[in-house]
Amino acid sequence: MKDKQFAVIGLGRFGTSLISELSRMGYDVLAIDNDENTVNAAIEIAAHAVQMDATDEQALKSIGIRNFDVVVVSIGEHIQASIMTTLILNELGVKKVVAKAQNTMHGKVLERIGARVIYPERDMAVKLARSMVSNNILDQIELSPDYSIMEMMAPNSFAGKSLVDIGVRNKLGVTVLAVRRGGDIIVAPTAAQLINEGDVLVALGKNEKLQRLIELE
Ligand code: ATP
Repeated sequence: MKDKQFAVIGLGRFGTSLISELSRMGYDVLAIDNDENTVNAAIEIAAHAVQMDATDEQALKSIGIRNFDVVVVSIGEHIQASIMTTLILNELGVKKVVAKAQNTMHGKVLERIGARVIYPERDMAVKLARSMVSNNILDQIELSPDYSIMEMMAPNSFAGKSLVDIGVRNKLGVTVLAVRRGGDIIVAPTAAQLINEGDVLVALGKNEKLQRLIELE
């Protein structure tokens, strides 16, 4: 098993999918839910599964929740339980709490009480919309509401030019972190790096600057 320890509280579709993927990647995940049948089903996919009410501070303490590297609260519809659980985790000193928000107001509260907030449906819809309008975006990681890392096809007009000639940083205001070329990857390319047709750029920058880069031919 890999050394990072994860716990997922709330085994709906999101929580279950998250656990399946982490387990597939070789991580040890503790699955928590207050519904007995749900917990029994989770034993199939998680290293450990515990039935408990996550709003019970003593119960969370007794399983040593503080020692987990990341705890994900994926209770969506029961907003009060989601907020209470997040608050308790924060007070117990959990290093990193990620919480799933149902709507903006819920998200704002979770953020105030120390969670990194995700909106899976909204985020997925935004990603899908962006990839639908542009064939060039391959993937995107949002670092903050304003900044992202985007993997995109290099615009055709870049072919045969170096990053400095293109002015990726000076004119376009983004940083190219890596260039993928077939099966190879050029990490931290220098300004003199030439771009070929078919290259994939991994670029970091403000969303509006990245958007402008994507729209180039
Ligand atoms: P998804 O969209 O991911 O399917 P959801 O957003 O609809 O899920 P909910 O149905 O609110 O999420 O809850 C997900 C899980 O959280 C359920 O399995 C539920 O039993 C569990 N849950 C709700 N409240 C608590 C609680 N206080 N303690 C532990 N688990 C809880």
